[in-house]
Amino acid sequence: MAAEALKSDFGGKAHIALNDPKLRANFRRAMDGLMTKRAAQFADADEWNALRARGAAVRARALAQLPELLERLEARCQANGIQVHWAETTAEANAIVLGILQAAGAKRVIKGKSMVTEEMHLNAHLEAHGIAAVESDLGEYIIQLAGEAPSHIVMPCIHKNKVEIAELFADKIEGQAYTENVDELTAAARKALRGRFADADAGISGVNFAVAETGTLVLIENEGNGRLSTTLPPLHIAVTGIEKVLEKLEDVPPLLSLLPRSATGQPITTYVNMITSPRKAGEKDGPKAVHLVLLDNGRSRVYGDSELSDTLRCIRCAACMNHCPVYTRVGGHTYTFTYPGPIGKILTPQLEGLDCAGDQPHASTLCRACADVCPVQIPIPDLLVRLRTEAVHPSATAGVKGGGSAQSLSESLGWRGYTAMYGSPLIYRVVTRLMGLFGNWVPASAPMLKQWTSVRTKPKFAAKSLHQLAREKGFSHD
Ligand code: SF4
Repeated sequence: MAAEALKSDFGGKAHIALNDPKLRANFRRAMDGLMTKRAAQFADADEWNALRARGAAVRARALAQLPELLERLEARCQANGIQVHWAETTAEANAIVLGILQAAGAKRVIKGKSMVTEEMHLNAHLEAHGIAAVESDLGEYIIQLAGEAPSHIVMPCIHKNKVEIAELFADKIEGQAYTENVDELTAAARKALRGRFADADAGISGVNFAVAETGTLVLIENEGNGRLSTTLPPLHIAVTGIEKVLEKLEDVPPLLSLLPRSATGQPITTYVNMITSPRKAGEKDGPKAVHLVLLDNGRSRVYGDSELSDTLRCIRCAACMNHCPVYTRVGGHTYTFTYPGPIGKILTPQLEGLDCAGDQPHASTLCRACADVCPVQIPIPDLLVRLRTEAVHPSATAGVKGGGSAQSLSESLGWRGYTAMYGSPLIYRVVTRLMGLFGNWVPASAPMLKQWTSVRTKPKFAAKSLHQLAREKGFSHD
């Protein structure tokens, strides 16, 4: 399905997820483990605070000069032999990738993990044009077999337990016997994928950081599938959002120190790939051609707002979702779009529009757990509140897509009445008296209360207000 056709239904999906004990148990177990591992990595508060301040500064410096750095990145990449393409929309990016593959006569593609290609729905686009794309990251491979979307940006199949994976493999992998042994399941996936690497006409990957100074594409991973995808096939296409650019090579280490520790509680990933050119004369491996596709898809609009542009600092570590009391209970599929959890709640409404995903900024308790663990200090709760406001009162300067789409005459009248009530002691007394007399007659199923009372008990109005009681006791001054 095309991304444009999607509309968020957070409330409806959350109800379903909350009534799925298996899903909740899978998430609870996984999230508890990730939180414990991350906490162990950042046990030294001084080190954590200094490192995240540095990480935030590196990303803020890059974003402050984003247009110039993107031009420098393009020039450097081209000088290194990497062909650079610009895509304003996901449709353009899909067309560019398809065009490169068709020009090369590619029919089989092996893919490394890439959330941007999920955002593009690239696999479906390629399949519709006769090109088979196989995911090589174990988690992505599992959900591709299951025909599902990722439920987490780092661990895409975290919603499944080993029994579900064992059943899936026995059903979908030819000759695979049912086993719940994790090593055997991993070996089965490895065996099924090995041949795909060798057969692939092209590899497609994401990019963690693109360094403008040197034209280097940094790609981190644990399974070696990213390295195989980007070196074994004769053609490599890297796809990334325009915000992933860094100014200098020396900006990479602090972010590499933050990203895996925040994501999986590892000091560093098993593989850190740094791709700076296609295969050079005399080299024994590497692709003969490398392409870099830079996707905008609404990021320029986000960049144009001085407050909301903090969203673009994100390094996709997923720590915010691992610690979010909402995400950890309802899981990633509840968010409909590619990016779930707190980062999704600020990014998706900006990319897709508040008219499509305007309920997502409300799917938060504003507890600030996300902001506390974000390694690049994105003030997520503040941006959630800002987006809630934009949905009702779009600011003149901001260009948030779908701004004002939640404007409602009844809500606006309700707030005016509320203001009037609290602005006049007389009106306040009359209204509270009427509520005390008649409020309990209003059923919980009344249209204006229905949604609220679907998950809460309607409070009972007291027969007498606090003011009345105080007056009767002789405490009132009026
Ligand atoms: S918002 Fe922060 S914590 Fe969340 S994924 Fe991005 S960098 Fe990580």
